[in-house]
Order: sequence, then C-alpha cells, then structure tokens
Amino acid sequence: MRKYQHAAPRRSSYDVVIVGGAVIGSSVAYWLTQDADFDGSILVVERDSTYEFSSTALSASGIRQQYSNPINVRISQFGLSFIRGFAERMAPFFEGEAAPGLGFREHGYLYCISPEGADAARERVELQRSLGAQTVFLEPGPLRDRFPWLNVEDLGGGAWGARDEGWFDSVGLMTGFRRAARQGGAEYVENEVTGLELDGDRVTSVLLGTGERVSCGALVNAAGPRAGVVAGMAGLSIPVEPRKRYSFVFSSANPIEGRMPLVVDGTGTYVRPEHDLFLTGNRPLDDGPAAVDDFEMVHDEFEERIWPALYHRIPSFDALKVRRFWTGHYAYNTLDHNVIVGPHDRVGNFIFANGFSGHGLQQSPAVGRGVAELLVHGAYRTLDLGQLSYGRIARNEPFLEEAVI
Ligand SMILES: Cc1cc2nc3c(=O)[nH]c(=O)nc-3n(C[C@H](O)[C@H](O)[C@H](O)COP(=O)(O)OP(=O)(O)OC[C@H]3O[C@@H](n4cnc5c(N)ncnc54)[C@H](O)[C@@H]3O)c2cc1C
Repeated sequence: MRKYQHAAPRRSSYDVVIVGGAVIGSSVAYWLTQDADFDGSILVVERDSTYEFSSTALSASGIRQQYSNPINVRISQFGLSFIRGFAERMAPFFEGEAAPGLGFREHGYLYCISPEGADAARERVELQRSLGAQTVFLEPGPLRDRFPWLNVEDLGGGAWGARDEGWFDSVGLMTGFRRAARQGGAEYVENEVTGLELDGDRVTSVLLGTGERVSCGALVNAAGPRAGVVAGMAGLSIPVEPRKRYSFVFSSANPIEGRMPLVVDGTGTYVRPEHDLFLTGNRPLDDGPAAVDDFEMVHDEFEERIWPALYHRIPSFDALKVRRFWTGHYAYNTLDHNVIVGPHDRVGNFIFANGFSGHGLQQSPAVGRGVAELLVHGAYRTLDLGQLSYGRIARNEPFLEEAVI
C-alpha cells in the first residue's frame, strides 16, 4: 500500500482552509476560484490524494430528479446542467487539448412501486413534473410493455425518469474541479487535519499531522464520512456517521435488451448496467455506524439479500457471476438523510458541507457553489440552500427526504 506523502503547506495562513479534497472540497475550491469577487487564499488539505477510500471514488455515480423535496430536485437540475456542460466549462483548464466529458449515460431511474405506495408515488411524480422533471408514472401494464424483462406482478406501478437521469464518471467530475481549482490558485496539500483551535466562537487555526499550525479565516468541513470527527475537533457535533455500503459488479448469462434504467426495487436493491456488466447494491441488513477505517467486505450480502431481490424483479437474472466488489462509506445523516450546508450557528466561520448520504456526487456542483457564495458574499446568490442549514440540526427538526437509496 502506498504510504502517504504528507507535506507542509507553502504558507502559514490562508483565508479559507478546506478539510477534504474529494468532490465536495474540490467543488468548493473551484467555485471560490471562479468568483471574481474572491481574491483570497485557499488551502485544501487531503489526507490521501489517491482518494482510494473516498466515497467519491467508490460511488455508484448516479443523478436523478426523483426526490420528495423541491430543493433536492433543483439541486440535481443544476448538477445535470453542470454535467452536460462539463467539457465546455473545463476547456479553459486544458490548454489546447480537448477537455473530457463525463460519459453521461441518460438511461433514467426506475423506482418499482408497491400497490400501497402508488398514490404517494403519483404525487411525487406530479411534484417533480411541476418543477420541470420528466418523470412519468407507469401503471403495471405499460410498465411491462416498456420493460418486458421486469416482473411487475406484485407492483402498483413504476416511477420512471425518462430523461435527465442516469450515471456519469464520478472521478472525472472530482478531477475536473480539482484541476480547475489548482489552476485558479487553490493550493492542495496531502496532509491530515488532526486538530482545530478556536478563539471564542471562531476557528482560528488548523493543526496538521506533520506538526504545522495554519491560521484560517474560515474552515470548510468537506471530510465526507469523517465529517463527524472533524466537527468534533471544534467541539461540535453533527448527526453524520459512516455507514458501509457494499457494491457488486456482476455478469449475467442472459442480456437485458434495450436501454435499461437504474432499477430500484422495493427492497432497496438497485441495479444498473455497467457497459456489458451490471452494478448492484443495497443497504446492509445490519445497517449501523461503522468505524472510519472499516472497509471489510461482507460477501453474504450478495448471496442472501441482493441476488434474491434481483432474481425476483428481473427473472432473467438467473445465472449471475460476481466479477468485482468493494465497500464504500455513506456519510449518513441519521436525522433526515439530507445534506447539512452552511455555518454552525455559534462558530460562524465553521462551514459544513456534510451528510450527503447517497446523493452527494450529483449535489456537488450546487452545494460547492452555494458554500462559495456564503464565503464570498455572506448569502446565497443563486439557489437558496437555506432549508438545508445547520439550524435544523440545532433545533432537532428533521427536513426529511423520502426518496433515498
Ligand atoms: C456505494 C456508494 C454509492 C453512491 N452512489 C451515489 C450516487 O449514485 N449518486 C450520488 O450523487 N452520490 C452517491 N454516493 C454518495 C457520494 O459518492 C458522496 O456523497 C460524495 O462522493 C461525497 O463526497 P465528499 O467529498 O463529501 O466525501 P469523500 O469523497 O469521502 O471525500 C472526503 C475526503 O476527505 C478526506 N479527509 C477526511 N478527513 C480528513 C482530515 N482530517 N484531513 C484531511 N483530509 C481528510 C478523505 O481522505 C476524503 O478524500 C454514493 C456513495 C457510496 C459509498
């Protein structure tokens, strides 16, 4: 295993220090460097610049419009426009070379809906459509006609995002943000933030694993599943914990004809094509908090939980072979599954961007932009993310997202 090459930053003081340089930290850094009103210094501290265990690298990389909260639909709509326009946005940072796209596969998401859940699903579809999403509710007959390989016998219907949903290259998105942020002047250093110092209600400095003390004007917590650890360094707490998620890539003896969407079964098992293979996962049976460095695999999850659900929903999945597998961590918000964005209510220069659960990748463009707006202008200027602020945590008032995977 590669040893970390932890190094000291170039300066002893920065206007903004960002803890964690994966998709969220790099998005914040990118948007700061893009803001003409920002001329400050940025340090991004990343403990492992291989990103081997980051959620970003271990993600299923999907984007959907199918949420129960309008703000989450709008966040994803901005994410979608960002993904579609990625190569164009990145062009200035590739000096003459063609900037890469993100390989967006617009196959849609299909939520399988039980008969009992059909009315609520129809309402969600209406809400999403009123916001401009292309979701449709298919009754069982049309659902079978559209997806003949799907077992609809026990379903009340399906909610299908016919457009504007699919999956894309997660590491490509992070790498683009990072490359552009660095060219815009953000400094990245491989090191670990091991402590924070406060003076009254302000974070004043960051302590690094290599012994340096670095002063900061503001601190952004973009530490993913380790967000609770970083908050704890300032004596703060958030209801965000690492939760293990097992992913499996398998081949099937029988192909699925046509443009297969990401299918979400009622059991929570999801499956989507991955070139000529398939990617699947679910929350584990014994879901609960994990240690930050526990990435041990539980193979029985496929055999006992996922495969029976797959075979029930898609009977042609009767001869499968697992080809690859990995464990990743959700940064799981136990209060309401939604991200916490913005300053702590007392320690006002400690900024959260944490607890994305299973939808942080698609939310990274909008949340990074929002955090940058708060830092530079003291308020949101484009999309108001106020409903997702820390205040609800302090008041213990969940802002529940029903459509979680
Ligand atoms: C199996 C799985 C499937 C998913 N599927 C989807 C999906 O389909 N769509 C979607 O939108 N999202 C999905 N997600 C969620 C999404 O991947 C995450 O929400 C997103 O990647 C979070 O990015 P992040 O930058 O906050 O966290 P991370 O990518 O985990 O990055 C945090 C970084 O902080 C660094 N760090 C932590 N502590 C310190 C410290 N003290 N000092 C320095 N550095 C530190 C870490 O090394 C890490 O690189 C999925 C996640 C998983 C695990």
